[in-house]
Amino acid sequence: MEEKFIKRLMTSMKCDSCGQHYEVYNVDVIGHREDLWFLKVLCSTCHTQCLVAAVVKEDRIPEAVTDLAKAELDKFKNNVIKADDVLNIHNFLKNFDGDFSQLFSQK
Ligand SMILES: [Zn+2]
Repeated sequence: MEEKFIKRLMTSMKCDSCGQHYEVYNVDVIGHREDLWFLKVLCSTCHTQCLVAAVVKEDRIPEAVTDLAKAELDKFKNNVIKADDVLNIHNFLKNFDGDFSQLFSQK
């Protein structure tokens, strides 16, 4: 799984505040632990910043949750963010204390 691909996926998400799509250059990958990726996104329109966590499974058939062209989807067809997984992480983040360095050093 490449950071570049994760960033591309994030551009299919919209800002909670103003509905603008995120730009690739405004997505920072904080880190990942197995399938769980943490990202920091900044809206280029309203400058709202937020943390995003996404579970990216490599063994699933993709669903149409991205704006990627068909050729790109074929290329990355084993990598997909599922909307359900993103929602599940909301609950995780509610109880998360923000200590990413500790999280990613766990094995
Ligand atoms: Zn915005």
